[in-house]
Amino acid sequence: TTNLNKQYTFDNFVVGNSNNFAHAACMAVADGYFHTYNPLFIYGGVGLGKTHLMHAVGNRLLEKFPKLRVLYISSENFTNEMISALKSKKMDEFREKYRKVDVLLFDDVQFLAGKQRSTEEFFYTFNSLYDSQKQIILTSDKTPAEIPEMEERLTTRFAWGLIADIQPPSVEEKTAILMKRAELMNIDLNEKVALFIAENLKSDNVRELIGALIRLSAYSSFNGEPITIELAKKTLDRFLIKKDKIITFDTILKVVTEYFNVKLSELKSKKRTKSIAYPRQIAMYLMREKLNCSLSEIGEIFGGRDHSTVLHSINSIEKKLKKDKELQETIKILEKSLYN
Ligand code: ADP
Ligand code: MG
Repeated sequence: TTNLNKQYTFDNFVVGNSNNFAHAACMAVADGYFHTYNPLFIYGGVGLGKTHLMHAVGNRLLEKFPKLRVLYISSENFTNEMISALKSKKMDEFREKYRKVDVLLFDDVQFLAGKQRSTEEFFYTFNSLYDSQKQIILTSDKTPAEIPEMEERLTTRFAWGLIADIQPPSVEEKTAILMKRAELMNIDLNEKVALFIAENLKSDNVRELIGALIRLSAYSSFNGEPITIELAKKTLDRFLIKKDKIITFDTILKVVTEYFNVKLSELKSKKRTKSIAYPRQIAMYLMREKLNCSLSEIGEIFGGRDHSTVLHSINSIEKKLKKDKELQETIKILEKSLYN
């Protein structure tokens, strides 16, 4: 018997820039590379697919090795089980249960923080499994070092193996996730509508993204209406970013030139000084993200640059965005002014 959710498979998981590293790490463990990435520590915000990936590893492993002892537990349930084991004086059983597994999937480890007794129990479990070369996968909403009040002897251990992050999905990834989920649920969803939801939903949380789809689909079947952008606007109103004006090339140029205090003529020129080139790259990035336009259309706006130059600029912003907090803030501010 296993407590894995069979729906959470690799097949149902949409891979993109935001999660490909964590996905690859999970695939490696699922392929049986136990000692290489141990423990595997996956971190990322709420609803970004950590639990899903973890179960996917377990499901894949059990397909291949049905006898393997794979155990999934959230840190909260671990704590609850421990408390009742303490009460009923069954600590030996409790310890035995966790120390005899081959693969331990330990979800949301950040909730152990500040809980002394369960932290301690987990510490011994961890050591016992690690010493006998059993695989441990952990998830958290933060990196080991960032978890407040987490004991250092644990956080250092969490970093012994591989740490992989999951970032919020891009609009393209959100669209792909919606399309995939619609297919799984037999919902007739047009790609245009999916893109509309992906672009306009306030939240980056995939669970909420899927929630929006379910809501829309329910509304559509209750009222016998097809799923259209109009219906999405109506049913998802509260969840959508308000777009009072339609974004165009010009609004993006206006917002970027104002924010960076550069002249439009300079932005469109061939000048390559950083103070001009950087806002230019950001404007290109925003056009690509918001307007669903081609690279050469963007190139044309910027004095006939070719599409590979544009692509290079956009890629460099995308890459920076993953790490650069300041740029993330800048983009947020620019997006706000675009929508207001
Ligand atoms: P987390 O554990 O990070 O909070 P979950 O794994 O519970 O997030 O994911 C929330 C929901 O979103 C689940 O229904 C999951 O199947 C779905 N989900 C998240 N990421 C993806 C993805 N990349 N592809 C498909 N479904 C996803
Ligand atoms: Mg989770």
